Amino acid sequence: MSTESCDVLVVGSGAAGLTAALTAAEHGASVVMLTKGHAPDSSSWHAQGGIAGAIGDDDTADLHAIDTERAGRELCRASAVRVLVEEGPERVRELIALGVPFDPELNLEGGHSRRRVSSVEGAHTGWAITSLLSRRAAGTEGIATREATAVRGLIVDGGRCLGVLTPDGPLLARATILAMGGAAALWSRSTNPAGQIGDAVAIAAAAGAAIADMEFMQFHPTVLEGSRLLLTEALRGDGATLIDEKGERFVDELAPRDEVSRAIVRRGRVFLDLRTIDRDRFPGLMAEIEKSGFDPAVVPIPVSPAAHYTIGGIVTDLVGRTDIDGLYAAGECAATGVHGANRLASNSLLECLVFGRRAALAAVSEPPFPTSFGEIPAAPPERVATDELRSQVWLQAGVIRDPAELAVLATSPDPVAAMVARFAIARAESRGVHYRTDAPVANPVFEGHFVMRPGRGLILEQWT
Ligand SMILES: Cc1cc2nc3c(=O)[nH]c(=O)nc-3n(C[C@H](O)[C@H](O)[C@H](O)COP(=O)(O)OP(=O)(O)OC[C@H]3O[C@@H](n4cnc5c(N)ncnc54)[C@H](O)[C@@H]3O)c2cc1C
Repeated sequence: MSTESCDVLVVGSGAAGLTAALTAAEHGASVVMLTKGHAPDSSSWHAQGGIAGAIGDDDTADLHAIDTERAGRELCRASAVRVLVEEGPERVRELIALGVPFDPELNLEGGHSRRRVSSVEGAHTGWAITSLLSRRAAGTEGIATREATAVRGLIVDGGRCLGVLTPDGPLLARATILAMGGAAALWSRSTNPAGQIGDAVAIAAAAGAAIADMEFMQFHPTVLEGSRLLLTEALRGDGATLIDEKGERFVDELAPRDEVSRAIVRRGRVFLDLRTIDRDRFPGLMAEIEKSGFDPAVVPIPVSPAAHYTIGGIVTDLVGRTDIDGLYAAGECAATGVHGANRLASNSLLECLVFGRRAALAAVSEPPFPTSFGEIPAAPPERVATDELRSQVWLQAGVIRDPAELAVLATSPDPVAAMVARFAIARAESRGVHYRTDAPVANPVFEGHFVMRPGRGLILEQWT
């Protein structure tokens, strides 16, 4: 067993990890980027609709902030939203300069008051961005990438994170950035790659970091029935309609995702009618739908909601710092408070670029590695999400939640499943993506973020 070291260790090779690794290397750091599987195993690789950013002539950062906060239902952390919308346009322009082949027209997506979503071939945005950044990382001398290396724990000594534990041995670093994505694959209906089960939250909580907002799982309303294939909002922006078994429309297709998801669950079996959509705008997606056995030009496609985006995660400040010295988090695994109680479509790739860069800039300034430290423990066993656990999470913490079901889930031996239930029990109201049958409206008493710290119950905090 070997012990390696570097300046900045990045865990995860999605948009947040790649951005952090490239930024840290640009600033002279030696970087190791670890990833559980391979490049296509990140959510970033599969992101479709696009990346938001106020770059249109009729758009401003203020308008983007208003839309983000409206979606977030009184819970967005205003300072994080300012950072996102003000730095966002520059990050998108950098991607354009790097050669991401964005479509000439900006897209309109649900909850946005302007056309501000940049996409590639309608639905290949994540792949286009991630593959380009991966190629750059591979060509950068200061970055060593290690795939198929699952991180199972953190090394924390005297309150400072010194690196991570893997089955191949410990890896030491001056600063560690977790960019490990979300937990949506813990639900049996999910758009995420199977490995996205919330490992970041599990290992950070075990090491004593604060966790927040885990009751907020965003469900994507239109996922092809029986698959992980997401039918992007951009299709609805272009005029696709949702119809029930009688062929009747029943919801405003561009309403926020939580409203559309609940309307679908209540309606039963529903279909996305793509017959009016220009196929040339979404060539890859149309081909995938056809591969699944449907001709979108002829029949409406059966869809239902699936767990999609984890709003909660490891509590960070605006430069990705967690409660543990030397430990940073960025992207979907972090809880900056930027999304409030509901993420606005296409704000998450932007979050990865904006906060991944900020975390790296702070991480490169960490003090030198300590000259002495305690014994390094062995890596804990691998955390596994069985099909049974995933079905339980779907049934007991799904789109519409019942407190008695949540109470059962709260006793799960899986730390993340139990955490989701505990947070969802504490929030005895309905707000954004979190909906409780016994408390179907928002209650001003809960205007805040539930935070879990070691040895303490859940505490409601106000974030500014
Ligand atoms: C189908 C789909 C479509 C989407 N469409 C859009 C969109 O159009 N616009 C938008 O803004 N957002 C979209 N999203 C959301 C967005 O893609 C994600 O929020 C974002 O890409 C998350 O990036 P990330 O870098 O934080 O995490 P990810 O891209 O998920 O990367 C996580 C990385 O961590 C690694 N990892 C996980 N656990 C471990 C471990 N234990 N050890 C080591 N490595 C580990 C993974 O292998 C992976 O490399 C979509 C998501 C999906 C699934």
